[in-house]
Amino acid sequence: MKFKDMCIEPTIQKALDMLGYEQPTLVQENVIPCIQKQQNVIVRAKTGSGKTAAYAIPILHTVVWEENKPQCLVLVPTRELAMQIKDNFTKIGLYKRIKVVTLVGKQPYHFQEQDLRQKTHVVVGTPGRVWEHIQRGTLDVSHLQYFVLDEVDEMLHIGFLPTVESILSNISSSCCKTMFSATISSEIQELAKTYMQDANMIEIQKEGEVPSNIEHGIYHVQEQEKKDLLMKLLVKERPMAAILFVRTQENVEDLYMYLEEFDLSVCKLHGGMLQEERIENIKAFRKGKKRFLVASDVAARGIDIMDISHVINYDFPLEVESYIHRMGRTGRKEKKGTVISFVTRQDKIRKERVEIYIGEALPQEDKKLLQQVEVLEEALQSLRRLFLEKEKEEYVDKDILMLYINSGKKKKTRPQDFVGALCEIEGVCAEDIGTIQIQDYHSYVQILNGKGQKVCNALQKVKGKKVKVEVAKDHCA
Ligand code: AMP
Repeated sequence: MKFKDMCIEPTIQKALDMLGYEQPTLVQENVIPCIQKQQNVIVRAKTGSGKTAAYAIPILHTVVWEENKPQCLVLVPTRELAMQIKDNFTKIGLYKRIKVVTLVGKQPYHFQEQDLRQKTHVVVGTPGRVWEHIQRGTLDVSHLQYFVLDEVDEMLHIGFLPTVESILSNISSSCCKTMFSATISSEIQELAKTYMQDANMIEIQKEGEVPSNIEHGIYHVQEQEKKDLLMKLLVKERPMAAILFVRTQENVEDLYMYLEEFDLSVCKLHGGMLQEERIENIKAFRKGKKRFLVASDVAARGIDIMDISHVINYDFPLEVESYIHRMGRTGRKEKKGTVISFVTRQDKIRKERVEIYIGEALPQEDKKLLQQVEVLEEALQSLRRLFLEKEKEEYVDKDILMLYINSGKKKKTRPQDFVGALCEIEGVCAEDIGTIQIQDYHSYVQILNGKGQKVCNALQKVKGKKVKVEVAKDHCA
């Protein structure tokens, strides 16, 4: 089957072509028709299966551009996942000029409220902040047509159940509801029974089923020899890109500093870091500017990074679900992946639980062979090397440019004023204009089809008044 056979509206189809999505993945093949028919669905699927596009495509297909109030609300457990989903929606909805707003903690309410006062099609947020906006009356849920709960298992694990229920009880029963989770616990089933009557159940991956493209291996180690063995392991494996999972924020900092001392291409991610730094690091890792990411579980949950060759459980996960989630970071889109775990005496029972769950023993690697590996300068050099940025991302980024223009609400500038001024430029038409975000003193205007730089050079006046135009820094296109 191809997307072209799924009757997807032309602007969305054009974006799928641009992104290089030709065929729907298994989860998309199953979920898209259900959402197109406004059916409630519960989906068991892991990240990496294409689940975000499975709901973003049919939702964006039906969203009415002219409607100002949010039509879709997506709840996710973490801020990073919210950013990633916003990015997915923005790219797929690019030619439909879809406006997506993220509502996450540790960011000022003021800007979020300002965003919500403008036309907003899709809201993506974490439960706490979304609930606060509903209570303050700044998020209007009365026009919602779609409600998505993504990574529900993780959301409940963090303790968001009461907040999720409060939000759900404010949402119309006629709203189409979709739930995604890697595991379906009895708590999740209860939630679905209460709020999602007659939901279809779609299971993409059976519980315990381990994808055949992922290889597993374990080393029995003592805590104090982990660092030394890790260096040898990296030299032996030469991962293209690896996430090194550790248990606590302190351990992230400690291991990060250790690898930095060897001058390796490494970055870090944990919940105690500033939001900007976390986003920067994810970007750097995703684009291949950094080769290793030292991360804690919560911070790395659900993050979609293609081409991770290795997941290294430097600290063995405390729970089976965590092993499954960590494993899901590699072997995406049927590529080969490797999961290597260090197992201490204290981890023995945890390792056995994982083995029971996946129905097979985790292959034991020979520690003696690893101990013999020599960490030579020449081998380290190759681990320091950076990667070229991913072609696809470059393609998309080249095509779209976000411009900053120093004209906003205080000058009574409206979207049509920008459209008018831009269409006056030779060779630019409405089709080349993406989202327009008007703030008090300035605005952000997305220019498509590779015409950004040209517009940046040519645009001088809006509403007949001189304006300053520059490429927006740190503002995601
Ligand atoms: P997700 O499971 O939503 O985290 O998606 C995993 C990755 O698959 C993302 O990088 C998507 O861009 C990519 N992807 C999703 N759907 C398709 C598709 N139909 N064809 C190719 N890539 C896809």
